[in-house]
Amino acid sequence: MKFAHTTFAPLVFAIAGFAAMAPAQAAKDAQVLAEAAKQKRALLETLKEYVSIESGSRDLEGLDKLANLIAGKLRALGGKVELIEPTGDAVYRMEDTPEKIGKVVRATFTGTGTKKIMLIAHMDTVYQRGMLEKQPFRVEGDKAWGLGIADDKQGVAVITHVVALLKALDFKDYGTLTVLVNADEEISSPGSRSLITKLGSEQDAVLSFEGASIKEDKLSLATAGIASVTLNVSGKASHAGSAPEAGVNALYELSHQILQMRDLSDPATGLKMNWTIAKAGTNRNVIPASASAGADVRVLKVSDYDRIEKQVQERVKKQLVPEAKVDMRFERRRPPLEANNASRAMAAHSQGIYKELDRPLGADAVAAGGGTDAAFAARQAKGAVVERYGLQGFGAHSADAEYVLIDSIEPRLYLAARLIMDISRGQVPGM
Ligand SMILES: [Zn+2]
Repeated sequence: MKFAHTTFAPLVFAIAGFAAMAPAQAAKDAQVLAEAAKQKRALLETLKEYVSIESGSRDLEGLDKLANLIAGKLRALGGKVELIEPTGDAVYRMEDTPEKIGKVVRATFTGTGTKKIMLIAHMDTVYQRGMLEKQPFRVEGDKAWGLGIADDKQGVAVITHVVALLKALDFKDYGTLTVLVNADEEISSPGSRSLITKLGSEQDAVLSFEGASIKEDKLSLATAGIASVTLNVSGKASHAGSAPEAGVNALYELSHQILQMRDLSDPATGLKMNWTIAKAGTNRNVIPASASAGADVRVLKVSDYDRIEKQVQERVKKQLVPEAKVDMRFERRRPPLEANNASRAMAAHSQGIYKELDRPLGADAVAAGGGTDAAFAARQAKGAVVERYGLQGFGAHSADAEYVLIDSIEPRLYLAARLIMDISRGQVPGM
């Protein structure tokens, strides 16, 4: 209405703007869509193969078998494939890190262009050997069920078939397309984190394929950082009946420590610290000589790590039982992934691609509480790192209800393939 009595300049601008916008709302790429439809059935077959091999993070035999299967498929698609066993200095040892860690599958596809793109997913699960029997792969209606199918075997399967799709279309405009599938995500990636960070720092874009939600289909630009606080208190044992005063009660000191560190959460910054485990004593009639407790810490910013660690270090000095020895360990298990301009641009472009299919796609810049390997990829990255390019699914870490939505296979194949094409051709703003 305001333009009615003004010059025609804004109108020209508006028309030019409209014309410029037209390609952004381009019709869908029929060739890519047709190939995605073709890959759908093959992907379900691959998913069945991946799910049918049990691969808990500590199940080296299963992980080996699965790594070889994945490696074989990527090799057949033309990749230069390595199986990397994490050893020595490459391993960041935490208190629950097993002695041996499953191999990482790394495949490199070399193209004719310059852009470096990496696709990541993990092959390990939280489950124990033997559980598959009760939850084998099966398709029922619009869902495919199976142990570890959502977290994260679908991710490995989608990546496998995105690469197959690009090969079928003879697309090679990228510089390098790197596929990285690790075997230790569920134990905080002790063996793969340094490699993921190193390779992540070399990329223009990293797409991480953890699954998306069934409730709201969206990408994640941010994930939580996860740390743990472990307290070990040593006291002195003594007869609780005849000489309690000769002992040093480790449980009293531990209780004091837990209570004086129960208010460190900070809703304003999303920082959460909660004590979740505790153990003390050996017998009812013995003053406990040892006690231990653990707290779970979540942060949204790397800087919050420094703040909370310092606070804990300060507080722990104030003891109730001076004779007790208090040992505190603050362990940064996983950094947070923070949104930045590069990831916002890639997410916005992804939303544009999904719009070609008339599908809405969210892009969440606030972490929901979980942590993933995308954060390791982003730690020294100059390019974009975005999480949740995987299928929509449900039931991660639950023993009897894991599934993915079959209807999300084609759109996700289309999305990742088109995005790789656009990045390769320099058609994503700022990349
Ligand atoms: Zn996962």
